[in-house]
This record gives sequence, C-alpha cells and structure tokens, in this order.
Amino acid sequence: MQVTAIIAAAGEGRRVGAAVPKQLLEIGGRTILERSVEAFASHPEIQDVIVVLPRDVAVPSAGVFRLPQVRVVEGGARRQDSVANAFDAVHPFADVVVIHDAARPFVTPDLISQSIRAAAEHGAVVAARPAHDTVKRVALRDGATQVQETLPRETIYLAQTPQAFRRDVLQRAIALGREGTDATDEAALAEAAGCAVHVIEGAAGNVKITTADDLEWARMRAAGPLAGGRVGTGYDLHRLVEGRPLWIGGIQVPSERGALGHSDGDVVCHSATDAILGAASLGDIGRHFPDSDPAWKGASSIDLLRRAVAIVHDAGFRVVNLDVVVILERPRIAPLLASMREQLAAALGVDAARISIKGKTNEGVDAVGRGEAIAAHAVALLAQNS
Ligand code: MG
Repeated sequence: MQVTAIIAAAGEGRRVGAAVPKQLLEIGGRTILERSVEAFASHPEIQDVIVVLPRDVAVPSAGVFRLPQVRVVEGGARRQDSVANAFDAVHPFADVVVIHDAARPFVTPDLISQSIRAAAEHGAVVAARPAHDTVKRVALRDGATQVQETLPRETIYLAQTPQAFRRDVLQRAIALGREGTDATDEAALAEAAGCAVHVIEGAAGNVKITTADDLEWARMRAAGPLAGGRVGTGYDLHRLVEGRPLWIGGIQVPSERGALGHSDGDVVCHSATDAILGAASLGDIGRHFPDSDPAWKGASSIDLLRRAVAIVHDAGFRVVNLDVVVILERPRIAPLLASMREQLAAALGVDAARISIKGKTNEGVDAVGRGEAIAAHAVALLAQNS
C-alpha cells in the first residue's frame, strides 16, 4: 500500500501570541513543525510527505526537510485550499492520503497506523475524542452569550488529526471544496460529498497547540516530568558539650549536652540550608551568613533557613521537598520528629507532607557514636517557579 502524508502548516497560527506562526516555535529544541513532519517522515508505513507552508515562510533548514521523501508546497488562502494544493502533488498511485495538522506535534505512530488501516478499509476516517464536559449550544442575545440547549454529550466527539482517506474519496471531497463548499477540515468535505466518515479514538496527548498555555504545556511535556528540577545536598556536624541547649529542626530538645557553635548549632537547619542553596548553585550557609558577621551571631538557624528559601526564591526556585537524616546517640528524638517537620515546613513555606526527617544512631561507632557530636545529611529538590 502506498501512503502519502500531507502536513498542513500554512496557517497564520497567531493566537499563541508570538511574532512568527506557531508551527515555527520551538518546543524542547525543535520546532512544532519539525516534530510533526518527523512523526510522518519516520513512520514505516508512509512513503511520501508533503508539507504545506505559508507563501512567505522559507523552507526550514532542519534535517527532516532534506529527506528525499519530504516535499514542500505553497499554501493557499484557507486550510482547504492549502490541502488542495498539496493534493495536486500527491502521486496518482497513492492508495491512502493522511492529513495532519502541524500544530499537533505529539501524534503517536500507533494513531497514524490506525488511521491508515481504517482509511484503507472504510474510505474516510477521523481521529476524535469523546467530549468529557457537558456541551452547550449558545447564541448571542442582547449582547450576552446565552445557552440555547444542552446537547447529549455521548453524541459529541471532538475532531483531531490525523484524518485519512482513500485517494479517490479525498479527490471527491476536495473537488467539492473547489466548487465552493467551505469546511474547517477534510472530514467535513468528505461528509458533504456523501462519504461515511469513520471515527477512531484519538489520543489525549495529541493536543493542538493553539494558545500560549498550550505552548507552555507542550514545552513541559517535551522536557519531561523533572523539567527545571534541581537537587541539592547538605551536611553538618557539631560537637556536643555540656551546658549548651540542643536545637534540632527548630525544636529545643531536652538534653544534658548541646551543640557547640556560634549559632544555636542546629544541624538539621544547617544541612537543609546548604541543600537548598546548593540545589540553586548559590553557595552555602557560610557564604550567606558568615560566623564573622555580628549580624548572624546567635541567629536562630530556622530563621537562616527561611532566609535561604527567600534567596533561592529570588533566583526563580521553590522548594519541592526536603529529606533529612539526623545522627545522634542520645536522646531519642522520635517523639519530636512531627514537631520538627512542622517547624521546617513553616520555614520552607511548604506542606509538612513534603518534609521528611529521620533519626538514627551511629551504633556506638566513632565520635558521633560516643555521643561527642551530632550530624545531619539533607537532600532538597527545587523546581523552577512558573
Ligand atoms: Mg552548622
């Protein structure tokens, strides 16, 4: 079977709010157009790809446009004119023609295969998604939009592309368009030509990028779930001496010994501060709050942690989560962990569910194990503020 794909990319595409047509905007280092053309040019069942570009747009230099199976034709005034121009370039021996909107770069190979198979069998097919929202027909009355009726939702499908046709069916549909029938897609022309158009289930991710929000969503999707995520690690240790209070995670813990240091010696807050600053590559606690500066003498460490969060926030980040391990021989801190989480969550401005703090002993090994010191390790994840 010979299959030709037509990629409709001749639209103005300005609703996205950019200076160039949206199909020329990049998501994840490649243009929307390149991604769409690539999906068809690399599909094993497609031999020929015809891309319809606006008259004033030069053929892009991306590698996919240099492939021998990819050709470019000039678009017309309306989408149907553009597709008609491309159809004139389809080889007469093509069995099936698949039409795809360049603004849907996340089309899947499986959906393309299904549309080819269904077109060969039924003549005309459209990928569509069932409506999940209740659908209202509206009209403008007295200057306001008013509901006219509620349509039965189960009868409503939202058309996507690919739309695929046997060559003879598409020829009849396009001929009707040339005679003056207006349509926003080729399936509508095929319907008007009296062809039964079959529906295959479209893909939820096969979104048409239309608005600036769609573009942002597409860029996040292309970048993957950890887009903009930054991880940082922190470590701290203080000697334990008699006659000092013991502060851990912003809580004063009843103990005969406390941490030696210029500050309150809270190893949890210090390691967390370093993890958060480190994730943003913004140095460490000593750089921002040096011991030598009287401003920080006796400073509360939970306050320094709060200030570190403000520093990374100014650099464009927010805290996603924090995980801390505290290592000390005694006293047992398990009963206080929930209060520590609350303190840390308040300082970080996040829900306590995003804070984890665990206590361990060092099994009597080395200085920490002998109770001469307390240590903590922290890991923080930051995300870019949107
Ligand atoms: Mg410290």
